[in-house]
Amino acid sequence: MIGVKIKGNYNVGVEEVAIPDVGSHQVIIQTEASTICGSDLHFYRSPSIEMGNRVNFIAGHEGSGIVHKIGDHVENIKVGDRVAIFHRYGCGVCENCIKGWPQYCKEGKSTTLVMGQSVIPWKSSGTFAEYILCPSDVCFKIPDSINFEAGSIIGCNGITAYSIITKLGIKSGDIVGIFGLGPLGITASMILNGMGAIPIGIDLSLERRKLAEKLGLPYSANNISKLGDSIDIISHKRYEIDVTIDFTGNSNAINDAIRIVKPLGKVGLVGIGPGLESTVIKPTQFLEKGVTISGILVGNIHNMYDIIRFVDKHNIDFSKMITDRFKLSEAIKAFTIAEKGTEGKIAFIK
Ligand SMILES: [Zn+2]
Ligand SMILES: [Zn+2]
Repeated sequence: MIGVKIKGNYNVGVEEVAIPDVGSHQVIIQTEASTICGSDLHFYRSPSIEMGNRVNFIAGHEGSGIVHKIGDHVENIKVGDRVAIFHRYGCGVCENCIKGWPQYCKEGKSTTLVMGQSVIPWKSSGTFAEYILCPSDVCFKIPDSINFEAGSIIGCNGITAYSIITKLGIKSGDIVGIFGLGPLGITASMILNGMGAIPIGIDLSLERRKLAEKLGLPYSANNISKLGDSIDIISHKRYEIDVTIDFTGNSNAINDAIRIVKPLGKVGLVGIGPGLESTVIKPTQFLEKGVTISGILVGNIHNMYDIIRFVDKHNIDFSKMITDRFKLSEAIKAFTIAEKGTEGKIAFIK
């Protein structure tokens, strides 16, 4: 089969690789769609020297497809099922794994499926390939109303956006400022729309603002003062921004997100960008206003059931944010376009 490996230094390799064997508690999925994530781009940009043995593995952690083969002791799914995949797993038996947080596995066995970084290659393989190997318990059945492209987005962007929204306790009617209208910001705004909140967004890219507005974002701006003005327009100067969520990981955006939220408001941090490590947040910025700051990297795996039900019930189609579709053999072009940062989601399709 064809598989795509991320090599770092803005290189990807399209290679012929063997279809993996299925083992106990594992499944092989015939890939119908897989999507490129910001995390994949992080490794794509990384200097080759920092890539380590990742360069040897098929990349990709967002994918969906049809169950092709199951190993022994697989009971939650059967051959022919349509499934979306959650991209993390751990030991499966420690307290954090049982509670749905394999990323914080107490046995130190947290593994990502796979940003070209599987430490246990016989346990899972990346989604940028014709077939995916993974543990059966990261597979979730999706109803016919959810197409495969949307299913791919659900397993990373979908669950991450859903998790920060629920963690922040956002409710119907809340005004939510979204910093960064890339795929993750657009995913959040579609979920917020579905639940009756009012998302407004900020992004420097006109293309991304237009796409977000086309998908239901009521208002977007390219700078913070215009975003502030929009609240006055929307609410006739009666309301303020209840919650802000940063999906950029940019230092200025994070500080703006804290500055613009109302007193006693909430701020969610999700984005990982260059410069995040050196971002300085002054305690007086949020303690004087009584602001709550909360972060999340990846959602709780149990939220997969919730997000699948939510998008089904509210007729939300995440595939509408896909602007470019490629075959796996066109991976070099796909990554070049994704790297521009002006498009919506980029997908590999069968
Ligand atoms: Zn992802
Ligand atoms: Zn564990």
